[in-house]
Amino acid sequence: MIRKLVVHIKEDAWLAKLAAKRMRSSQMAMVVGCTIYLHGVSRQGFLSDAGWMRHEVCHVYQYRQYGILRFLWLYWREFHRHGYYQNAFEIAAREAENDPELLKNIDFAPKA
Ligand SMILES: [Zn+2]
Repeated sequence: MIRKLVVHIKEDAWLAKLAAKRMRSSQMAMVVGCTIYLHGVSRQGFLSDAGWMRHEVCHVYQYRQYGILRFLWLYWREFHRHGYYQNAFEIAAREAENDPELLKNIDFAPKA
């Protein structure tokens, strides 16, 4: 049996609020490790958007691939070189939005 990866969701997160401000966006999801931090969108709103879920879960897998610190460093470097939209991790996450398999091994932890 395949053990599922548990992903946590945190609503009204200050980290996501800061990112939203910086990105001039009213809604924001931001991943650190296995947690998705939300601002301007409810847990339910987020979970009803499959493309958005896949995008953020792709970032969870990126963290798992590189480890938290290394991923943050690599992401920052990509961001610095290519900006937000053209950085390799965002390009991969946008492609993942259309991958129906991506959420197969994911369990969202119940609301704390
Ligand atoms: Zn992204």
